[in-house]
Amino acid sequence: MSAGSFYITTPIFYVNDVPHIGHAYTEVAADVLARWHRQSGDDAWLLTGTDEHGQKILRTAIANGVTPKEWADRLVETAWKPLLETVNINNDDFIRTTDERHEVNAQKFLQHLHDEGHIYTGEYEGYYCVGCEEYKQATDLVDGTGEYVGQPVCAIHSKPVELLHEKNYFFKMSAFADRLLALYEENPNFVQPEAARNEVMSFVKRGLSDLSISRSSFDWGIKVPWDQSHVVYVWFDALLNYITAAGYGQNDEEFARRWPATHIVGKDILRFHAVIWPAMLMAAGIEVPKQVFGHGWLLVGGEKMSKSKLTGIAPSQITDTFGSDAFRYYFMRAISFGQDGSFSWEDLSARYQSELANGFGNLASRVIAMVVRYCDGIVPVGGELLAADLAIAATEKRVTDAAGAFIETLAIHDALASVWELVDELNGYITLQEPWALAKSSETRARLETVLHTAVRGLGTLTVLLSPVIPIATAKLWTALGGDGALADQRVDRAWEWAGGTVVSPLEPLFPRIESIVEPTDG
Ligand SMILES: [Zn+2]
Repeated sequence: MSAGSFYITTPIFYVNDVPHIGHAYTEVAADVLARWHRQSGDDAWLLTGTDEHGQKILRTAIANGVTPKEWADRLVETAWKPLLETVNINNDDFIRTTDERHEVNAQKFLQHLHDEGHIYTGEYEGYYCVGCEEYKQATDLVDGTGEYVGQPVCAIHSKPVELLHEKNYFFKMSAFADRLLALYEENPNFVQPEAARNEVMSFVKRGLSDLSISRSSFDWGIKVPWDQSHVVYVWFDALLNYITAAGYGQNDEEFARRWPATHIVGKDILRFHAVIWPAMLMAAGIEVPKQVFGHGWLLVGGEKMSKSKLTGIAPSQITDTFGSDAFRYYFMRAISFGQDGSFSWEDLSARYQSELANGFGNLASRVIAMVVRYCDGIVPVGGELLAADLAIAATEKRVTDAAGAFIETLAIHDALASVWELVDELNGYITLQEPWALAKSSETRARLETVLHTAVRGLGTLTVLLSPVIPIATAKLWTALGGDGALADQRVDRAWEWAGGTVVSPLEPLFPRIESIVEPTDG
């Protein structure tokens, strides 16, 4: 890892399905963090991609009359890459587990573990859930109901599991339990938030089994390098994307520059990332990730979103009406990152109107309109600063620092709440200072100019601070404010230093009024 390196990943998404707002939420959070770090001078790198192997993909492809690669290509091009555009993700790389760079170097990794004695041949019998692509313990199963009565079913999928008996290759994961526990103890930040850390620690304390890492009953996967009759277990394959994308096995310089990463994951896949993955890396003699952060679930109508329960919402259902900025703002602001959070159209609509349109958008429009009207669009230099003006400057500095500190702990919602203190304070400042009244007399001209100068500066600080979250609206505002250079090049950690442009230009409403919201009904 080079100084200031910030390598952040999303889970790679399983191409079996189409994206819903939960996937978009993960992408946006990682993107906001990457943009923030990039604008703080870090060597930031955002990786996302797709997970394309495994029995479930094979079965879906067959059911659709295509090869699994054709199926994956179709989903990548029609669903997953478009998702990134829908919510305006500025990713640096997109890895597919069918990329040659991944397959070849995943094999190198596996061969290395084999050579080092971490892999052995064994017999495995157990219940396998194809939906989870995972062998299930007895405690993961429940009694089936309805058409599956009398059969054990996966607690997550409510579908029957398959009893499999295979000769498999096993990874000696049990040997790493003590080192994993020491890692969690010595580096409390390794797994966050705290509830996730506790869950992982108690899981490992109950003892670790070895992990079956190959399958021989189907062939859609990466071939085990020393035994072509086996393919690599899909999770073992998928986790390796985080290093194969960063140059592992082929570009040591690049790998040293990027690794280790911060992994953003849903809490349902926490164990793979916080137990199996660091154990794999320990076995290979590679540094463990910097952090594994498990975010919560999006609840719709109080339930975890799920396609089968018809609560799945496509991101475009929201962005078509509200735009990608509002999508990004809403999910980052309304939900404490790391906790479960409820989505509702009413809440989205209310926050759009009160926070984005009235709070921020209206502030921007008013300030620019007043500079145009009272100063012919030329940003006044301003004169003697009074206590009210100094208070705004102090808040600019304070919220810049506070937001940056919150981002360090991945508390994106708190960072936004800090920034919003400046939105509210600037609105209050304008109400109290009444520039429209100051504009009525030449005797108060100097004061008018100081107030507008202070407001423009404050607005500039907000523009920079909000640019990682709402990049489209802030770019328009930056242009209207006469900011120098590209907004994405402005330092977010020094947002308060911006001294103001020289001229402003007219600004269309950043968050136009939405007359009626047609709540999509799907079924
Ligand atoms: Zn399952």
